[in-house]
Amino acid sequence: SFYKNPDLDEFIRQKYTLKQLLGEGAFSEVVLGVDNVTHASIALKIIDKRNCTKQQSLETEVAILKTAKHSNVIQLLDVFESPRYLYLAMELVTGGELFDRILEKGYYTERDAAKLVKDILSAVQYLHSAGIVHRDLKPENLLFFSKDEDSKIMITDFGLSRIRKEADESLVMETTCGTPGYVAPEVLTRKPYDKAVDMWAVGVITFILLSGYPPFYAENNAELFKQIMRAEFSFDPNYWSDISESAKDFIRHLLTIDPEQRFTADQALEHPWIASDAASDKNIH
Ligand code: ADP
Ligand code: MG
Repeated sequence: SFYKNPDLDEFIRQKYTLKQLLGEGAFSEVVLGVDNVTHASIALKIIDKRNCTKQQSLETEVAILKTAKHSNVIQLLDVFESPRYLYLAMELVTGGELFDRILEKGYYTERDAAKLVKDILSAVQYLHSAGIVHRDLKPENLLFFSKDEDSKIMITDFGLSRIRKEADESLVMETTCGTPGYVAPEVLTRKPYDKAVDMWAVGVITFILLSGYPPFYAENNAELFKQIMRAEFSFDPNYWSDISESAKDFIRHLLTIDPEQRFTADQALEHPWIASDAASDKNIH
């Protein structure tokens, strides 16, 4: 089944043979592409520019993203533009999304989770030191490199929220139709925010990795936002009694309301749960 889109630019068709759809997001489609000259496979992200900010800032952003190289970051290889679309050729990964994989696993320990979080943190630390804030860290943006049991995890979609329309002004709105469960309190209260938003998201992801459910949950977004702004979460003993105190301490330092008090990537990497093997190897599935 080949990807069909009558509006696709001719120069893209000449460069890549497009195969199946790999995934879809709110503003884009990701398609498997094979380079017609080198025969290398890539993931081509096709973004409809009608959903983007001014072209000028877009070019700057993309230029920065192209320089990001880290073993846990999906590499942006090439960028093409037409009046209608922005095309991002990315390193292709085949291991699938984070949670699909964990659900399939029979045996899963705190130590497995800590290893994944360590890799995520190492990518976040790298991006932050390069001045890149992800702003949309969530399980769908965490992909396994390969189908191997011990495949590394990789971050995708970093920095792209910046080139989306009104990303700064109406993040609350954007979040409402997106994934509000991962958004940090200072985003909701519209205070200037920065790298710390990614660290909050790492806290949410770690919580879910260890328990299977999100720290903040409500029937409606108004209630959900209230919980997030108060960092109102708890470690329900029904799910958390087998989890180490070290893991809980780690999460508390990330799900901290004040972004200045919240752990940075450097601090999180030094926490015993990540750095000193304080995670237990009991099955928590
Ligand atoms: P969006 O920004 O629209 O959410 P993503 O970049 O997150 O788009 O991609 C959407 C989906 O496409 C991902 O959740 C994943 O399933 C798939 N995908 C994205 N990038 C790759 C890639 N490099 N290799 C393989 N699949 C990918
Ligand atoms: Mg995405």
